[in-house]
Amino acid sequence: MIQDVEWRTELSNKREKRFYHPNIRAIGEGICVSKGPFGRPITVPSTMAAATMNPILESLQAINETRLEIRSQTASSPANYFILVPTLRCNIACKYCQVSRVAETARGFDWDVKVQAQALDFICATDAYEITVEFQGGEPLLRLDVLRAVTEGLGARGKKAKIVVCTNLQKVHAEAWEFLKESEALISTSFDGTWADHDLYRTQGAENLAEFRGNLTKAMEVLGPDRVSLTTTFNPHTAPAPHEVFGDMRELGVRMMFIRPVNYLGFARKSFRETRDDTPWDDYYLTFLNALIDHNRGQEMALSEYYFTYVLRRILDPRRGEHVDLRNPAPLGRDYFVIGERGDVFPSDEARMLYRTGQIDLRIGHVATGLDHQKIAQLNEHADNRSDPECAKCVYQAVCGRDLVDDISRYGTIDLPRHRTRHCQRHMSIFDFILKKLATASATDLSTMAAMAGLSSLDVSAYRANYNV
Ligand code: SF4
Repeated sequence: MIQDVEWRTELSNKREKRFYHPNIRAIGEGICVSKGPFGRPITVPSTMAAATMNPILESLQAINETRLEIRSQTASSPANYFILVPTLRCNIACKYCQVSRVAETARGFDWDVKVQAQALDFICATDAYEITVEFQGGEPLLRLDVLRAVTEGLGARGKKAKIVVCTNLQKVHAEAWEFLKESEALISTSFDGTWADHDLYRTQGAENLAEFRGNLTKAMEVLGPDRVSLTTTFNPHTAPAPHEVFGDMRELGVRMMFIRPVNYLGFARKSFRETRDDTPWDDYYLTFLNALIDHNRGQEMALSEYYFTYVLRRILDPRRGEHVDLRNPAPLGRDYFVIGERGDVFPSDEARMLYRTGQIDLRIGHVATGLDHQKIAQLNEHADNRSDPECAKCVYQAVCGRDLVDDISRYGTIDLPRHRTRHCQRHMSIFDFILKKLATASATDLSTMAAMAGLSSLDVSAYRANYNV
């Protein structure tokens, strides 16, 4: 029987026992997950003896390793994603704020003209023609002059730039609307699931809430729902009932939401100390997804959740790797950079937070002096899950990734056994959920899931070939 080591994590004690065997993982009654062709996770009946499976698995393992090797060589695309922080100043004071904002009137927290010019040079040094530039803050619309100058500068220097503005949509003046329309910018804003929660954690007053609501509604009308993306932050200990969230999202005309637990960073770290333990998130998230599938049944337009659709599509095709939290190898300081308010360069936004809160200095350069390649190489020694003994045996290796900065943020080290990290626990639970759906969901639910992922149908032959469901 497939039952070498009983493996129960500290955090899954409410769920059924898991059995851990190199390359095989039990996820439910009679169902195991194994590595299939090209490392892709597939399901197999748990009655299949290890002796039968092992020769097949060994040959698949060799194919998988070759594939990962090829992918790691071709993965080094030129830098094409830049997050710019032209100011740390903000005009509201969200309790969920994960960045280190400062008051709107504070001085010394903005790009000056020198940093602006150097940042433009830094971005234009990439070989990539098409790039994405994401303006963050603070509230980036407080520096509309910088947004305009950078956008125009990139165009003048031959780059095709997709512009993303992460704004709180609190105060949007006529010139700002003009810029957002002209530049065909995508807007990323926060809406915390329900109006009540959003007011409690962000706007903190009827007047502010009405202002935000008016701007969000206007953005959906003027720019269109496809250009407005919502990030929804929940405290996993007090998250609202899923159907309340669906109601308010539908009312807004939203098609895609992205829900996440409060990140244990920045101001959120001080205001929500209990979120250091965000393990209740795993159960909440799966309950939310089940409720969302129920809710969508028979609806003309599917309401979807970004991370679920991303992971589902990645399981179906592990070559997808655009989400920085979930790719492998996950090199830092290569195709994705963050430029802070003083021109410092960071490998991720979380790395910038850790620097701002004084936890660790993960700066990898400055726009004036370029990149510190030695530091980048040091960080990247551990950016590949093939070098981790647990990941190497895990059935989800091909679809999972590494998140070194999250490990440093939570544990102050990257050396913890994988199964004890939140990155591993959280993803293991999502992977199990999706594989179980692919193996057992009804035809109606499969077509609902396909609609949520923007696919015409789901081919589940690799997930239910060997048993009757
Ligand atoms: S982090 Fe966890 S789920 Fe991901 S590959 Fe490693 S062991 Fe598997």
